Amino acid sequence: MSPYIKIKCNKCNAVHPVKTVDFQNETYVVDDDREMGEEICIESSYEWNCVECNSPLSIKIEKFEYPVGVENWTDVTTEGCEVVK
Ligand SMILES: [Zn+2]
Repeated sequence: MSPYIKIKCNKCNAVHPVKTVDFQNETYVVDDDREMGEEICIESSYEWNCVECNSPLSIKIEKFEYPVGVENWTDVTTEGCEVVK
């Protein structure tokens, strides 16, 4: 994962980076009974307030691996903001 993710606030349109090192990571097993072993999900989430307008923002990145070590797909959920490419 890159050290920063650029975020745009939906309320004031301020663009600012968030550090992925500050994210809370949690790994859990999605499915433990598949041909190639377990499918896991690494969930990284972060909540903060916009640097400009102080509105509550959050991001959640779910990375699914199956088999373990092979990234299958990533799901990004945001609230109050969006990821700037
Ligand atoms: Zn804002």
